[in-house]
Amino acid sequence: MSTKAPEKHAFQAEVKQVLDIVVNSLYTDKEIFIRELVSNASDSLEKLRHLQITEKEVYDDTLNLEINITTDDQAGTVTIQDFGIGLNEAEMVENLGTIAHSGTKAFLKSVQEKGETNENVIGQFGVGFYSAFMVADEVKVYSHSWRNGDKGYSWTSDGTGEYEIEESEGQRRGAKLVLKLKEDAKDFAKGDKIKEIIKKYSSFVQFPVNVNGDKVNTMDAIWLRGKSDVKEEDYKEFYKFQANAFDEPMTWLHFNTDAPLTINSLLFVPTQNMEQFGMGRMESKVALHCRKVLIDSQPKNLLPEWLRFLSGVIDSADIPLNISREGMQDSSLIQKLNKVITKRFLKHIDQLSKKNKEQFDKFWETFGVFIKEGVATDFTHREMLSKILRFESSFTEKGVLTSLTDYVTRMKEGQESIFYIIGTSRQSIEAGPYMEAFKARGIEVLFLFENIDEFVMNHLAEFDSKKLVSADGDDVKLDKLDNESEAESISDEDSKALCEWLKEVYGNRVTAVEVSERLVDSPAFALNTDKFMSASMRKMMKAMNPEGEEKETPVSVKLQINDKNDLIKKLVGLKSTDEDLAKLVANQILDVSLISGDFLEDPKEMVKRSYELLSKV
Ligand code: ADP
Repeated sequence: MSTKAPEKHAFQAEVKQVLDIVVNSLYTDKEIFIRELVSNASDSLEKLRHLQITEKEVYDDTLNLEINITTDDQAGTVTIQDFGIGLNEAEMVENLGTIAHSGTKAFLKSVQEKGETNENVIGQFGVGFYSAFMVADEVKVYSHSWRNGDKGYSWTSDGTGEYEIEESEGQRRGAKLVLKLKEDAKDFAKGDKIKEIIKKYSSFVQFPVNVNGDKVNTMDAIWLRGKSDVKEEDYKEFYKFQANAFDEPMTWLHFNTDAPLTINSLLFVPTQNMEQFGMGRMESKVALHCRKVLIDSQPKNLLPEWLRFLSGVIDSADIPLNISREGMQDSSLIQKLNKVITKRFLKHIDQLSKKNKEQFDKFWETFGVFIKEGVATDFTHREMLSKILRFESSFTEKGVLTSLTDYVTRMKEGQESIFYIIGTSRQSIEAGPYMEAFKARGIEVLFLFENIDEFVMNHLAEFDSKKLVSADGDDVKLDKLDNESEAESISDEDSKALCEWLKEVYGNRVTAVEVSERLVDSPAFALNTDKFMSASMRKMMKAMNPEGEEKETPVSVKLQINDKNDLIKKLVGLKSTDEDLAKLVANQILDVSLISGDFLEDPKEMVKRSYELLSKV
């Protein structure tokens, strides 16, 4: 029984304009209205929980703190009820009839003028309530505030210019919104549809959300809790739920901080690298939340590309007003979140290598390729990333890896560079001529087996102020050996003449022939003189473009000979006694050197020559 006639009110002028924008052009996804209204209901319950601590008397004090949603397919309505603080008449006018933030309208207008749509913005602007009018041609709010002395009221509007408030008896505490759905939005009167939307956006709301009596949000926003309050099973269950995964996480980082930003985050590394199985590019499943409510499930630029294997949640209460989703991608807040979290994650992996080697090794084996991609592409994090790199080396056993940091601790006195060599296998590198000089001097060389490694080394260029140098390069500088081999070398004159003769025999196949200071046992080796095109890079290019014009771009190598080697010594005499045979031997030496360095592109000639040589036995 109303004691007063319904009272008509006009919306504040700004509200009218905002309503028009919200309803007609702001959203791409109408379903967002559920998120907005559930968030409002949850806020209201949260406020009540605080009040219950400080206030002695609260209206309807025995009610559960929960949100109940009911749908009526026949009537075409959806009702959202909370037992929160509610609104009295004045609060209805103030909160539902005016807009609190003055910048809101201007922003919304600018978004509209640019023809952009944005489904995420509403909750952040204090206009979320109006999203109800996207799907409803009438919204009724029944409410009783938490104050014992207040009366119950109903607020009704069709979202055009006016709303009506009248007293309404028999209201429970809190607010009950009844949305009479528009013809094209009748789908939202189906319980299953509403459940699906709540699971998507509002799974972590802290109060129970019941849809037609079934509790829908069973997950807890565990990222907001302290680490000691979360059990291992909780993390695993959350991972499966959030990433839609069937495996268990390999490792996770639960990271909360208040400075420089309020961040509550939980990041998971899966067990499998799906890209390794040729499943196409992985896509980050790290969602952006603001106080438990989903803002964007796949925000761009929140984390660097090379972290696309992660899943989890980043929740920041600092997400500012006045940002559109397009703006958000470049906003300084997103950049700050990116920096802080990426750094923290790398620290986590670094710590893992010290605290749980087995787990770290698994991580490296599965996701090391992403770390390498990071080194090659992400200048900002390159230094931290480089500490995570692991390689085999001439000082490790087969299959055992070392870090660059550990390599540096083993560097010899006076050694200025970090040496590496790229090859197909440990055996082929160890058997090749390039290792001889390093072995003789006790200098460690990293063994790199993957194509991407060369890019990694080229981009990294230095580690701990030490240059990274390819052991088969022309620019390797090594100290003279103390106990220089006793074997006698040929005279300077003879070796000069031999080099000249060899260059003549080889023609354009080599850029130069000279005496090596590095060789110990082998007669000769080929050194790459093309700074921009190593042997493995060349191979990769060829694999990508098999029809390529490799004939027109011959490899650019120089040959260095070992003037203490018997074969080379013999060659000095042979070239004057039997020049034809000497030429055969010389060409064979070059081809074998090219094979060792992975430079030889076509072995036909060399095979033919081998038989020719053998026939001379
Ligand atoms: P926001 O929630 O971002 O402030 P809304 O437009 O969604 O903006 O809501 C405007 C105001 O209306 C809220 O700040 C709150 O004071 C009030 N309100 C909305 N929904 C409820 C509710 N379920 N219970 C109590 N008050 C509400």
